[in-house]
Amino acid sequence: ERRQLNRLRREPTRTTDGVDVKLWANAESRADVAEAHALGAAGVGLYRTEFLFLQRTEVPDEEEQFRAYRDVVLGMTGRTVTIRTLDLGADKADRSGLVLEGEPNPALGLRGVRLSLSREPLFRTQLRAIVRASGYGPVRVLVPMISSREEVLSVKRMLRKVLAEVRREGHEVADVIPLGAMIEVPAAAIALPSFIGAVDFLSVGTNDLIQYLLAADRNNEALGEIYTPMHPALIRLLHDIIRNAHKRGKPVAVCGEMAGDATYAPLLLALGLGEFSLHPNTLLELRRAIRNCDLSALRARAPALLRAKDRNQIEQWLTASH
Ligand code: PEP
Ligand code: MG
Repeated sequence: ERRQLNRLRREPTRTTDGVDVKLWANAESRADVAEAHALGAAGVGLYRTEFLFLQRTEVPDEEEQFRAYRDVVLGMTGRTVTIRTLDLGADKADRSGLVLEGEPNPALGLRGVRLSLSREPLFRTQLRAIVRASGYGPVRVLVPMISSREEVLSVKRMLRKVLAEVRREGHEVADVIPLGAMIEVPAAAIALPSFIGAVDFLSVGTNDLIQYLLAADRNNEALGEIYTPMHPALIRLLHDIIRNAHKRGKPVAVCGEMAGDATYAPLLLALGLGEFSLHPNTLLELRRAIRNCDLSALRARAPALLRAKDRNQIEQWLTASH
């Protein structure tokens, strides 16, 4: 079983009807990056930078961040690395005092890009470190918790300024650094046409998107099956996001846990998804599942999936797809 999976390390992620699917890795440690490289990931689709800030009381300076990001870029030897800007707040609390204490609703509070934009010097430092790392290989910047066009434009302006400034200082930097938005707040998914022109790519964070769409805490065990990807509202929203992205020629991946669960591969492929970002520990299983999928047959069954009225009908659709 393990041996058979291991043989897939050097195989393409291709459907039975010959369509290649892009598998990116989610990574936060050196070990994740090495594993992603060894498994033939297309690149890092989500590098979570929070771990640099957690479990410590002082904030990492530009040099420390730069070294960490550069090492990931070097570790991927020319494959693209997508660095997500700081996503502290809510379930990702720190001890450095950046996150406000005593927020009544931390999941709805000053988290992700909201926190970054409220702490400009801190955010500039992180952007400078990322821009410097771009001198060592292809880098993209991904912004968490986007809920409005204004946020996208603010980050875009800052990134452009920082890129010019770091270049002026004589550092070697990339000509362009693609900017992406995480789609994990329902408002961003619904209002996507209002800002999609300002970004280069999208990554759907289903962990938070499900939480906010279904008003169901992602970490509350008591909710049981209430927190689920198998809800018609999520299926319709994902379909919309993917369609809008493709209409505008923007690459879109799903990077939440849902993408790493092979059970949902037929569903995401049916909706038109061509890029998945997942932890290396399930990458080969997902590759195997996709290699067993007939994309054109799944696409033909998308209307039936979109008509599913409840969890049960979505499960039936999935059972019929495996
Ligand atoms: C998500 O919300 O789906 C996601 C990928 O980000 P995180 O789990 O780090 O919030
Ligand atoms: Mg998230």
